[in-house]
Amino acid sequence: MYTCERCGAILAANTDQCAYCGTVSAAARRQLQADAARQQAVAAPIIAQQAIARRVAQMNVEQAAGRSLMWGVLSPFFVCLPFPSVLAVLAHNRARRLAKEGGVELPTRAKVGYWLALVSGLGFVVCFVAICVSVYHDDQRVDARKVELAKIIAAKGTTPVLDHDFACALAEKSLLTDGFAGSTDTGSFRELECAGSVRILKERAEMTDFKLRTSSSSDKVTATICFKHGNSWFVERTGTTSCDLGQ
Ligand SMILES: [Zn+2]
Repeated sequence: MYTCERCGAILAANTDQCAYCGTVSAAARRQLQADAARQQAVAAPIIAQQAIARRVAQMNVEQAAGRSLMWGVLSPFFVCLPFPSVLAVLAHNRARRLAKEGGVELPTRAKVGYWLALVSGLGFVVCFVAICVSVYHDDQRVDARKVELAKIIAAKGTTPVLDHDFACALAEKSLLTDGFAGSTDTGSFRELECAGSVRILKERAEMTDFKLRTSSSSDKVTATICFKHGNSWFVERTGTTSCDLGQ
């Protein structure tokens, strides 16, 4: 507490000038200056620390934002395998959390990565649904075709004559039921072409050149169908090697 050196009035706290006569008290001024210096000395390291923390937060946010953008840019190339989309969203969320904690702004890169990931993620959902629908339709188509073939085969009954149409129906039904050459995804079988002629020897028969496209090969594959006659004609096996009917 200081009193005015001129008029003796009590100076208010935190002031060095008399409210009555306007005289500045040298002692009060020194005291105020000393207080200010002490406060600054205490605050300086805290301010410095805050600056460092802010810089670290900024760097972490930048790093997370960079990752979000990187995965976001990659995500359209992996539309049917959406892990970059997931990583981009995770990185974006991390960047946003760090930015909030550190009191820094979320970089645009994080937002761009996030939106790219969302669009790609949506693309994945569309792609997935389209594949499901396509597989469903393929299976429906094959099932319908198998019903047709079963009718043709039933109409032939136990006839001992294995003509080309009968052999083709038996062969196609066998391929669509059991698959071919390790591929059992019969819904994906396309362009089945019963091109070969039937060679019969006693109770057995062979048809080469049954062409079809499967999902496991980009080129058309050629099947050899082996038939046998028991009570009626049936397919003994399908493959790529000769049936060995003998001479
Ligand atoms: Zn005074």
